[in-house]
Amino acid sequence: MLSTSGSTLEREITNLVDTLAIKPETSIKRNRVIEKINVMLSKIPEFKNMTVSIFGSTINGLATENSDTDLCISSPEMKDISDYKRTCLENASNSIFNMDFLAKQLISHGMSNITAIKKARFPICTFRDQQYGVDCDINVNNCLGIENTGLVVEYMKLDLRVKPFLFALRLFVKAKGVHDCKKGFIGTYAYTMIGLHYLMFVQDPPVIPCLQKLSGVICKYPNCHFKTATPITGYDIRYHDCVYIENAKSNNFINRSSVRRDDSTIWRSSNGKNSGELIIEIF
Ligand SMILES: [Zn+2]
Repeated sequence: MLSTSGSTLEREITNLVDTLAIKPETSIKRNRVIEKINVMLSKIPEFKNMTVSIFGSTINGLATENSDTDLCISSPEMKDISDYKRTCLENASNSIFNMDFLAKQLISHGMSNITAIKKARFPICTFRDQQYGVDCDINVNNCLGIENTGLVVEYMKLDLRVKPFLFALRLFVKAKGVHDCKKGFIGTYAYTMIGLHYLMFVQDPPVIPCLQKLSGVICKYPNCHFKTATPITGYDIRYHDCVYIENAKSNNFINRSSVRRDDSTIWRSSNGKNSGELIIEIF
């Protein structure tokens, strides 16, 4: 049975997602910035074969209008670069891994408000494209970020409650100001992981399965990401993209992005709570 407060909150969350999620015109502007960065890369001999792609909340649908755009410069040759080589390149004067060098290129191609943040696991440059009014964080070869984005997208495809639940959770931590890594807090991606962990391991019965360690079902999909993915710089990036959820309580949670094939892995849920009830319970 739905609680009244849960139903009311569910409607409020749905309205918030509709109101605050990035608009199509903003997505177009962010893609224009990508095009500009790719033109920049094509003109610089040191950046040969490199391309830039968007990852993070702009892709997984959890971004708001004022979220930064996460960009990653990569090339096929960089895929298996070791941490030692990476550190060497970060200190080389004309390497794209050197954030000071990258910052100079961004300045010379018209970007502004540029800050090189070098003391991080994956150094970044932050910048603003004034033409489109887009603020970006750009890194080099953080391919794990791209894989992590794919994982979150896969969880959202499983069940329609996942996106509004995560969106509301992220809005809450941003409103409370407890998401800024520079101030010693964990970042919004970590809160997203906490939210997913809550849905799979704390809710009883669970809302979603753990796609990195499926239990109780057998994957028969030959092209499943779990079977085809190879490690990136030693990290296991496998997750199942073969799962289709059947919910015994309701068909209202089926995401149309989730396709049921003959070889889909069917996972059964009997959790019928709405996103409002799930948010109330995580707190
Ligand atoms: Zn699978």
